[in-house]
Amino acid sequence: MITAERYHDISCGHRVVGHEGKCRFLHGHNYRIHFEVEAQKLDNIGRVLDFSVIKEKLCMWLEDHYDHKFLIWENDPLLEDLKMLTAESLVIVPFNPTAENIAQHLVEVIAPLQLEGTGCELIRCKVEETQKCSATYKK
Ligand SMILES: [Zn+2]
Repeated sequence: MITAERYHDISCGHRVVGHEGKCRFLHGHNYRIHFEVEAQKLDNIGRVLDFSVIKEKLCMWLEDHYDHKFLIWENDPLLEDLKMLTAESLVIVPFNPTAENIAQHLVEVIAPLQLEGTGCELIRCKVEETQKCSATYKK
């Protein structure tokens, strides 16, 4: 197995429904999101996937869909109120937007679509909320 990695930084709001502490409040992070892509074999010049393709397929997806937006769970009781205030700022997601669930969603749902036809697979994603706190989902 051989892998290539790239990370991307985005600013994004969220809240964690049911959190016992301050993460239940509306807030945001400067997220650093790490992608690890695997190929069964290297291409004919010796790459897993060109780093620019990882950027285009995964980093730019984050940039286009999550950056400077607010991630909100479709079952969040605040959803309807926030929609009235700022629908265009919201990204309605099918999970409570913890770092763990974001990482899993990127690996299991987004990456298979984005990497289709490349012969590569996203096998690991690490979502850093801060330099000290992160969660990783591995296939
Ligand atoms: Zn947070």
